[in-house]
Order: sequence, then C-alpha cells, then structure tokens
Amino acid sequence: MSEPGPAIGIDVGGTKTAAVLVGRDGTVLARAVRPTPAEDQQATLETMVDLARSVMTERAMGVGIAAAGMVDLEGTMRYAPNLAWRDVPLAAFVGSALGLPAVADNDVNAAAWAEFRYGAGRGTRQMLMLTVGTGIGGGIVVDGNLYRGAHGFAAEVGHVVVRQGGPSCGCGNRGCWEQVASGVAITRAGRAAAARHPHSSLAELSGGDPGAVTGAMVTDAARGGDTVCRGIFVEVGHALGVGIAGLVNVLDPELVVVGGGAAAAGDLLLAPARDAFHRSVEGVHHRPEVPIVTAALGVDAGAIGAAALAFELEGATDS
Ligand SMILES: [Zn+2]
Repeated sequence: MSEPGPAIGIDVGGTKTAAVLVGRDGTVLARAVRPTPAEDQQATLETMVDLARSVMTERAMGVGIAAAGMVDLEGTMRYAPNLAWRDVPLAAFVGSALGLPAVADNDVNAAAWAEFRYGAGRGTRQMLMLTVGTGIGGGIVVDGNLYRGAHGFAAEVGHVVVRQGGPSCGCGNRGCWEQVASGVAITRAGRAAAARHPHSSLAELSGGDPGAVTGAMVTDAARGGDTVCRGIFVEVGHALGVGIAGLVNVLDPELVVVGGGAAAAGDLLLAPARDAFHRSVEGVHHRPEVPIVTAALGVDAGAIGAAALAFELEGATDS
C-alpha cells in the first residue's frame, strides 16, 4: 500500500474562506484564500470548491470543512449566524463536487482538533479549547476524541448566560458569556471609556470619535499604560476566568487552550483570567494545576483541524 495521502481543509468564515493541503504531520503544504461571498449561499459553496481544487493533489484522500455555526453530525450546517445559512449540506456538496470523502464540523471544534493533534494540546487526552475573538467559541476533547454531543452542537460555551439582563447577544439572549468576556465586551467598554474621558490616549487613538474605538485600540492604549484600558482588560479577563473555572469544574481538562483575536492581547487578558480562574475554580489547592495557555497554530487552525478530521474518515472506513 502506498503512503497515506494528505487531506484538504477548508475554513469558511464570514469574511474570508481558506483552503489548505495538509500532510499527515499537520504541515500545511499549500494554501489559498479568497473573500467569502457571504450573502450568496451558492457562490460561497462554489468558492469553497474552487479553493479546494486550487490546492488539491491526486493523492488527496479527503476533505474537511470548518464553518462558524451549528454543524450537525452529517456535516450539514443547520444555522450560521454570520453567513445567513440554514440547512446547507456542506460535507455532501463539497465531497461530491471534489469526488472525495468529506466531513464538516464547527470551526472551533476543528481548531480544537488541530491544537490537540498538532499544537498546544499535543500529548493531552482531555482538553478545552476556547477561541476568544468577537465572541467565544468552544471545542472539547474528551478521552482523545472530539466531543460533539448528541446532535453535533456541543461546546457552544459563548452562549451560556452569565449575567441576567446583561448586554443583548446575536443569539437572542441577554448576558451571554461572550457578551461580557470577549472582544465585543472590550470594544463596548472602550467606547464608553473614550466617551467618558475625551482627553485619554484611547480617545486620541480613535480620532475623537468614541464610536470608532476598536479592540486593537484598547489593546494599544493599555500597552501604553492607559489605566482605564488596563482596567477594561482586568474586568473582561476576570469574566473570562470565572467562566473558564465553571467549565473546568464541569469538564476537568488537563489543559485550557485559548486562541482567537482577543487572545493576541496575551497576558493583558490572560493574566487577570488566570487570576480569576484560581479564585473561582472548586478546590484549587486540592487539584493539579490546569494551565491556561495560548493556541499554537494561529489563523490556519480551523482549516488544519478540518483536514485532520478528514484523516479520521480513513480510519472509519478501514475498520
Ligand atoms: Zn448568545
């Protein structure tokens, strides 16, 4: 038998779609990116197929798709908040277009699988992955397997309500964890701070328009020593850490991996999160340390993980 071939991984997001060809060791062998025509479902599917073809080789054994939203166990996107997609058979469409076995999963599940196989979670058996960007996504590895739940919708941790009557969320609830502990919370607090303190460095960075404040500006101002902005990171990091403690109480992982855009703020966010975690987790002095570390694979994690999920298809057909 010839050596097992690489797999294609596709990560379709609200703004861009990426396809990668991934070797068995997780190495990215080829990569292509294009904007996502998010308003047009059919055009988005065709973009995914085109990009996959551009990185595909004869030896490719399968294709995996990572997409933000609720993807069921058959690889159908049931509901995508950022793509206006409902009931789209992602795996079936892309698989038949390419003539390859196909699998599709939630983008954070895929990223978790990539970190577990090739990144920060290597060598663990129980791992929790969080992507902290505009919102918060989750991926859970239990006993060395991705935990999908009964329908494929597990680990939607960002939508656990933690503050009754809190800020309203795209999901229809108020006070979801992601509304108080992610990039959207940093931006909201930054805009309020810039309005309250018109002579602050943050207000200056925004050109005097509080509505123009971005999370990156809050990060820059905090790094520059702005105490109000540092306070925002302490507060949001605290909400992040308390939530992580709750999840660790439920899952008891060996490791928590944090990726996503807000994680780029590094210890500005993660130091207060670790602090709050230690103060909140049950029996902190009576359990092994659960490290909270940053993700290792960067923006390609979802696509790499999707390809790695395709490798699993081979195991399924062999046995
Ligand atoms: Zn929500």
